[in-house]
Amino acid sequence: MTPPELPGLTIVELQRLLRAREVSPREVLQALHDRIEAVEPKIDAYLSRDLDAALDAADAADVSLPLGGIPLAIKDLISVAGQPCTCASRILRGYRALFDATVIQKLKAAGAIPFGKTNLDEFAMGSSTENSSVKPTRNPWDVARIPGGSSGGSAAAVAADAAIASLGTDTGGSIRQPAALCGVVGLKPSYGRVSRYGAVAFASSLDQIGPITKTVADSALLLEVMAGLDPNDSTSLDAPVPDYRAALQGDLKGVRLGLAKEYLSDGIDPEVRAAIDTAVAQFVSLGAEIVEVSLPHTDYAIDTYYIIATAEASANLARFDGVRYGHRAENPLNLLDHYNRTRAEGFGAEVKRRIILGTYVLSSGYYAAYYLRAQKVRTLIRQDFARAFEKVDALISPTTPEPAFKIGERSADPWRMYLADIFTIAANLAGICGISVPCGMASGDLPIGLQILGPSLGEARILQVAHGFEQSTAWHKRRPL
Ligand code: GLN
Repeated sequence: MTPPELPGLTIVELQRLLRAREVSPREVLQALHDRIEAVEPKIDAYLSRDLDAALDAADAADVSLPLGGIPLAIKDLISVAGQPCTCASRILRGYRALFDATVIQKLKAAGAIPFGKTNLDEFAMGSSTENSSVKPTRNPWDVARIPGGSSGGSAAAVAADAAIASLGTDTGGSIRQPAALCGVVGLKPSYGRVSRYGAVAFASSLDQIGPITKTVADSALLLEVMAGLDPNDSTSLDAPVPDYRAALQGDLKGVRLGLAKEYLSDGIDPEVRAAIDTAVAQFVSLGAEIVEVSLPHTDYAIDTYYIIATAEASANLARFDGVRYGHRAENPLNLLDHYNRTRAEGFGAEVKRRIILGTYVLSSGYYAAYYLRAQKVRTLIRQDFARAFEKVDALISPTTPEPAFKIGERSADPWRMYLADIFTIAANLAGICGISVPCGMASGDLPIGLQILGPSLGEARILQVAHGFEQSTAWHKRRPL
């Protein structure tokens, strides 16, 4: 194996080579660095990288550990001590994280090397990575198109072999949607499965950290390292962490998969629809049983999300006031002027739109009409899923209604942009888990993703279903560029 091929490998494949001492962690990192240098001018997936520190870590790596010597790319919203953590916002330009997020601590303890930070929509608000204040990231399959978002840098890097694997965050689809549009695997764990301590909060009742990988097995491996109770995140669940890789075994005979009729509506691109139909036939041939189910409150998911997410964002983003860190306006006239101008200069248009909307829905007089009502609808959405999971083990659907759109195509129309998450958002509202795996290609060589949703803490099952599908198809082997 010559070093230039190394960046194309999965974690599991690299582990084998590293443990057999056929390659060293330094060679892996160097090869990855060369690959990044070659493709980064085309895709712009990274915001920062620290090769020197990573090489030191590589030289010290213990390859017998679960992730010993494996380099990882991290969405620039998750704190890695000493590295920038800008959330792709002007307001955090120059800020460096002072501590490791819990997931980073765990990954480092398992031997991984978080060496670089990837681009995103500012504060994870968006579906295309065009809302980054730094630069848009491009889809490696067609650089005129968006990679999805908000974890677009993480997904594009993995797809382009400019990362072995990466981390994203998913508040309404930001792991699964870019994974689908870039042709890789993205897992949103159940709410509370993985600690968010050290991830900059967007909407605290929805956010989750999860892996973006080339295969389902790699996803299982990373989840297993990251999952579990964390005293620093009171929303993390005190539930045992299964052996997710062992759960990949076994066939899909008798597994009940639900198809929600509301998720196969007319708005779906015909090529996406055809890919899902083919995936369904594939599951049948693997012995799964397909059951039609209904999620009657689906139509309300986007509206509900944009009330709850913006309300929580408006509260969470209040901390960016230019007093302790980040951007600070020059020569303020007084304290109010300092706040006003710092925030006016520091936040981009979409973030401001959300803060304004969120503040409005929480204001006295409108709170009951919007926020409280949205919380009630959220309960109905949660009940829809609970009812469906009485009948089926997992739900399958497209991850996105269409393949990747062109850069700039939706920037002027926030509502059309919001529709990119129509199939992913409800899972966050319900707190359940979901994974996107490649299931086809649309014309122009654009990847299509299949979403598999499971109940809260149902990760082992959706990983098994995803793995069974993946291993019986060849979509995950295709690479762009
Ligand atoms: N696209 C959705 C939004 O803009 C979801 C983003 C996310 O999951 N972080 O809010």
